[in-house]
Amino acid sequence: MTTAERLQAIYTRMYDQLGPQHWWPGETPFEVMVGAVLTQNTNWKNVERAIDNLKGVGLLSLEALSALPTGLLAEYIRPAGYYNIKAGRLHNLLTYINEAHHGDLQSFLDQPLEPFREALLSIKGIGPETADSILLYAANRPIFVVDTYTHRILSRHQVIDEDFGYQEIQELFMDHLDCDSQLYNEYHALLVRVGSVYCKKTSPDCAACPLRGI
Ligand code: SF4
Repeated sequence: MTTAERLQAIYTRMYDQLGPQHWWPGETPFEVMVGAVLTQNTNWKNVERAIDNLKGVGLLSLEALSALPTGLLAEYIRPAGYYNIKAGRLHNLLTYINEAHHGDLQSFLDQPLEPFREALLSIKGIGPETADSILLYAANRPIFVVDTYTHRILSRHQVIDEDFGYQEIQELFMDHLDCDSQLYNEYHALLVRVGSVYCKKTSPDCAACPLRGI
């Protein structure tokens, strides 16, 4: 079986058994961007609580968050953990949008892919996973998001070596799958589901997992 066939087989098995995941869970591109920063090193339930805090007081917009002192922002996002650090990272992202795009979110989202990714990676606190999540889920660009689950599942199924890094894994997907943001979206979401429910760090539940036998 070629690499492309293996990646396709994994996708088909997950999709057939688990169905569409309707990711990313966010009502607007801005909410997706905030969620992408807040989800670093925590689970989605905690992110939802932080986002609900911001929504509850009408602060989930570029204008409102930009006007909020970072210390106060940290209090609202406390449920997401590392709240002082994440408030600083959100502040850095908002500052970039306000300075480089004059606060025009659409102009920010409409940038050509390569300079867009470079700009995101140049923002302090925005790493490849967060940058690519914003590109794929907020800006609908065809770029594959790699996370811990992706690495664990692919290495356990011997599609990649244990020491593969972010870029190698990303290239593997993008070199062997159609360049399709919807496919990348669904594939990543399905990997997150399998990784969080079945393919846990210790004691993977292979007997119940959709990928058993692959
Ligand atoms: S739980 Fe088992 S079958 Fe499922 S992805 Fe992990 S290693 Fe594969």
